[in-house]
Amino acid sequence: MSVEVFDPHEAIVGSFTVRRVLPRRTLRTVGAWCFADQMGPAEVTETSGLDVGPHPHMGLQTVTWLMQGTALHKDSLGSEQLISPGQLNLMTAGHGIVHAEEATGRYRGTLHGVQLWVAQADGQRGGERDGPPAFEHHAELPAVDSSVGTLTVLAGSFWGVQSPAGFAPDLVGVDAALHAGTSVWPLRSDFEHAVVALDGEVLVGDAIARPGQLASLGTGRSEIRIEARDRARLLLLGGLPFTEPLVMWWNFVGRSRDEIAHAQRQWRDGDGRFGDVPSRLARIPAPDVLWRTRPEA
Ligand code: MN
Repeated sequence: MSVEVFDPHEAIVGSFTVRRVLPRRTLRTVGAWCFADQMGPAEVTETSGLDVGPHPHMGLQTVTWLMQGTALHKDSLGSEQLISPGQLNLMTAGHGIVHAEEATGRYRGTLHGVQLWVAQADGQRGGERDGPPAFEHHAELPAVDSSVGTLTVLAGSFWGVQSPAGFAPDLVGVDAALHAGTSVWPLRSDFEHAVVALDGEVLVGDAIARPGQLASLGTGRSEIRIEARDRARLLLLGGLPFTEPLVMWWNFVGRSRDEIAHAQRQWRDGDGRFGDVPSRLARIPAPDVLWRTRPEA
């Protein structure tokens, strides 16, 4: 069972060029993780940061996790939250939410982080895909005390340590800040897993993963050997394979194109489904839906 390594592709988000490793044609999800962008490192100022204007989400959770710098999250629930390295912003879109990511007004320097999405499951699977939106900020997260570095548990449970963040069960997310050395990590064999290399080169099993790359481990492993030749930073993502039909388009995660097209019209028409957030940045319009849709009832 070999480890498969994928290169990221570049995309533009706000004023940042990001390196995206999920989704990809041959690997759409890792557990319920359905989107993974590495942002920066890039320089920001007090007045120019990620600069992502108000835009809607549905059917997903967003995770913001920084390695360096500070960013400002605002959403239609009234949340206004600065985030710094070691802290977790978890936004649950459910039926609908709007957020913006702005300059902080006070931080100037390097910004480096990740944004991840988790596809929400339907009710019968313990998810609340169509449920109410929510926002959580965790100023501190528990970590595994390891001889090879600090393994912070963002989501789920890892090595006996449980994240307090409100994710659906059967998901795991871990940030590892490693020094040189080798360790063997326990995995749930019913999960599929991937390692996203953020900084430094790591050996994942017998495959080399360089910064920006994703190493896919598949399912059926009860452990993985991780070797850092020098200081390195990586994310371990995993979960039960996501088996519900998944349609991802723009900022929406749904189950059908009709559902997506309906949400697109609601955002375009400003009908109130997603709410509003005050921002000095412009509201981001949805692109046109390019497939044939059923007439609205
Ligand atoms: Mn967003």
